[in-house]
Formats: sequence, C-alpha cells, structure tokens
Amino acid sequence: MISVQDAQTIILDLVTSLQETETIELDQATGRILAEAVTSGLDFPYWDNSAMDGYGVRFEDVNQGDTNQPITLKIVAEIPAGIKPEISIRSGEACRIFTGAMLPDGVDTIIIQEKTQKQGTQVIVLSPPQYCGEFVRKKGNFYQSGDILLSAGTKINEPEMAILATAQCSQVKVYRRPRVAILSTGNELITTTEKLEPGQIIDSNQYALKAFIIKNGGIPISLGIVKDEPALIKQKILEAINTADFVLSTGGVSVGDYDYIDNILLEVGGEISVDSVAMKPGKPLTVAKFDNGCVYFGLPGNPVSALVGCWRLVKLALDKFSGIKGEHKPQLITVKSAHDLSSQGKRETYIWGQLKPVNGEYLFSLAKGQQNSANLINLGLTNALAMLPIGVTKIKEGETVTVLML
Ligand code: AMP
Ligand code: MG
Repeated sequence: MISVQDAQTIILDLVTSLQETETIELDQATGRILAEAVTSGLDFPYWDNSAMDGYGVRFEDVNQGDTNQPITLKIVAEIPAGIKPEISIRSGEACRIFTGAMLPDGVDTIIIQEKTQKQGTQVIVLSPPQYCGEFVRKKGNFYQSGDILLSAGTKINEPEMAILATAQCSQVKVYRRPRVAILSTGNELITTTEKLEPGQIIDSNQYALKAFIIKNGGIPISLGIVKDEPALIKQKILEAINTADFVLSTGGVSVGDYDYIDNILLEVGGEISVDSVAMKPGKPLTVAKFDNGCVYFGLPGNPVSALVGCWRLVKLALDKFSGIKGEHKPQLITVKSAHDLSSQGKRETYIWGQLKPVNGEYLFSLAKGQQNSANLINLGLTNALAMLPIGVTKIKEGETVTVLML
C-alpha cells in the first residue's frame, strides 16, 4: 500500500499530455483546452476612445480653469460610438462625445458630462480635468498586437470566450477530448430500468462516473455492467482499452473471491503500478498502463470510494492528459471546520461535506448522516472533502482543516 502522494506521483508519471488537436467553431469551444497560443493583429483598445459620456477637449485649453473662472468652449461636433470622426478639434473647441466613441484629432482628454454645463452651442467646463488623458482609453493600453493573448493549455471558459471573440478567432485549435470508458462490475448490479430483486444493487457508479468525466471535459463511453465472470470481464476490458484513452471500472479490485480485475489486467498485458492506496475511503485502487498508452483505473465498487478516487487522483490524470497547463496538484485549501471531524488515523481520510461562506469566511460542514463509503445518499451537495492526514484522529469544531475543493 502506498501513500496518496506517491500514488499521485506515479499516476501523473504514467500520463502523457495529448498532442492531437482539432479546429472547432468558437461557439462550440466552451470547456475545451487551447492547443496553441492565441495572438491578435489588433491593439486593444483598437483606437483612442472615450471612457465616458461627455466632451472631448484639448487639455491645455481647460487646464487653467477653475470653479470661479470656468472655461467655455465651442461645441463643433457630436461623435457617437461607431463612427470615424472626420473633424479635428482646434484650440477653443470641444466635441460632444459618448462612451466608446473614437477620439477625433486634437482631443486628448474627456470632461465627463456631470462636470459641464451646456449653453446653446457652447459648453462650460465647471472643473478642470485631473490630468491630460483623463477618461481616455488609449489605443493599445490593454494589449498590443502580437503579444500572447492566451497561451496553449488554457481552458476556455467565459472570460477566455470574450477574449477569443474580441480577437475575432471564429475558430480555435483545441486538443481533442479524452475518451474515457466506464465499466461497472458485479453480479449484484442492475440498471436503472430493471426491477430490483432482493439482494441486488442499482448501478449508480456508471452515472456518477459519467458525470465526473463530462464535468472534466472527457467523452464518456458507457460500457455498462459486466458480471463477475473472468471471461466476460476480459472481453470488456479488451474492448475498453482498445477504444479509450482511460478506462474507469468499479468493483472487483478488493480481496474478495469475485475480485478478478487485477489478474485480468495482467493477463491482457497491463502493467500494474498501483494496487492499493493508503486512503479512506478508496483503498482498493488498481492503476495499470497498456502498451497503446491507455491508463486503467480499477476503482472500488462502493459509490463514495469510487468518487473519492476520481476526485483525488483520476482528475489530475485527466487534466494532464487533456493538455491543461501548469502543475497538476489537488486543490487544497485550509478552512475552519464547522464540526468535529474524526478519523482512525491509519489512512489519509477524506470526509465529505460542503464548503460554505459564513460571515465572510469559508467553513467546512460535515455531511449529515453516516460517513460510510456505501452511503451515497448523504453525498448530495458535496463540494469538498476534508482531508485528515495519517496520524490525525480528531479535528475539533472551529479548528482548521485542509479541504480538497471539488
Ligand atoms: P466491490 O468493490 O466489487 O467489492 O464492491 C463493493 C460494494 O460496492 C459492493 O457491495 C456493491 O454493493 C457496491 N457496488 C459495486 N459496484 C457498484 C455500482 N456500480 N454501483 C453502486 N454500487 C456498487
Ligand atoms: Mg464486486
């Protein structure tokens, strides 16, 4: 049995980042990972423009004014957003201008409308600007053409979408999505549509893992339920490793008489590098790699154990494979615990619950009900796992605890 940290290192070493890319329409790119750096031939702002509704002036004209002797300028033009001003503003003149409108020649400063008074064709500047260039968005101030806008390995979420759109990237080159086969093993399992007979269990893992894969940018390949029969499992595993980049199976990796996965993986050429991890829940975890690059995760059958293995370890492997840049490590933060937390202290223990903002700080609240790896019912709304290291048996209410954010 190895530590969680060692398992993480081994797993990340097994995974190489994807090289295959595809070019897709920008509006299909949410959640995808950029495969190349993006630059723009445009400066941002594209040109000098007004940050406010007001009047465009020459700073030297209005610099000397004050409330007792306000400066009066002649309004010679009105410039709405969206047009190219054809006029040049000379000394003693101003133009009416609106937010986002391009500055005409001669204008270097904007006086906001609240600091002015219009009198016919003239405008009185009631108080002088603080500095030359006030309320002007200068061309290239936010970004200069040719610089890198977004680097390869960036996930496209709403901010990146805005950036890509403004750079007119109507298509983007992204890494292809990882294909992940999901397989539930167990004689006791039935599907969500079959009638439950005494002794049976409904296969929830198939759905939970599918959601996990989709949320993490993969393409799930649901291979359904396979009975605990070596020949059938072997056939399914072969199918899985030949169609997917990763395989997630649940069940059959413990030490029971029906736990065949490890032997079959060896039989079909898998190289097993992890066979159990000092974590609770989730100790039975088999990780194997095949010659074609496919990485197999044999997760325990208990629903919470399977998900904890995914959240703590599989996620990092998926992120690395997907091309997400940066160091791949769990998202751990330290917060206050709203409850007493306990562990046997023998394995790194993960306790499910919720991170909630309370009075301006995050608190970890333990899920109500039993912390039992078969109890998927109180997993609802879980968004964090408190992590108690080996040797720590108690964290009292109000003390700090390390939490894995999901
Ligand atoms: P195993 O790891 O195969 O010994 O399974 C451990 C426990 O997890 C079993 O008692 C099953 O009741 C439960 N289990 C196994 N597979 C699933 C599944 N796909 N969905 C829900 N529960 C499962
Ligand atoms: Mg089983």
